[in-house]
Amino acid sequence: MEKLKKECLEFCYNHPLYEKGTYPVFGEGSLDAKIVLIGESPGYHESLSGHPFCGAAGKVLDELLDSVGIKRRQVYVTNIIKLRPPNNRDPKPEEIRAFAPYLERQIEIIDPEIICTLGNFSTAFILKKYNLENQLEGISKVHGKIFEPQVAAEDIQNSLFEQKKREIKRVKIIPLYHPAVATYNSNMKEILKKDFKILEKFKKDEQ
Ligand code: URA
Repeated sequence: MEKLKKECLEFCYNHPLYEKGTYPVFGEGSLDAKIVLIGESPGYHESLSGHPFCGAAGKVLDELLDSVGIKRRQVYVTNIIKLRPPNNRDPKPEEIRAFAPYLERQIEIIDPEIICTLGNFSTAFILKKYNLENQLEGISKVHGKIFEPQVAAEDIQNSLFEQKKREIKRVKIIPLYHPAVATYNSNMKEILKKDFKILEKFKKDEQ
């Protein structure tokens, strides 16, 4: 993962979204994580620290994980886009394409049992990646559902590690609302908490 991070940072420092004085946010957490959580792109606080979900949305994420007895260090947290778009605008399709190989390789290295997509962008990206495009609806329709890709492993695009391809098949995809929604709508936190309950049975034993 360190080698991939180095490559990714190199890419970031040469990308048009990179702004001097800020940090790319590669992602962090346990490399043995059963659960990978994927957000959209770093916000203000993340780009000043280099750590994912360390601002207001991160506080909500920690609270949600805590509500099901999961510690941040037990999961792996990252984003599709590793640089903050200006004024937190939505990522552009070409930006998503440009950063996709790094996210895909992070998933392959960790080989999680569960991928939680946080919000519309990562949900659309991951459902497409696992050939579940036909299930693709807005996050308000798919949140809290469990998707299990039925694809032949060889069909998984851009898979780099032959041995991992077989294992990728057993991953479960759980779309969730982005935790940021709970920072401006407190009712959403209850919905998020309910959806997070699904994770209780997958959590890794305390180490
Ligand atoms: N929102 C995201 O999608 N990712 C972060 O890291 C922070 C806020």
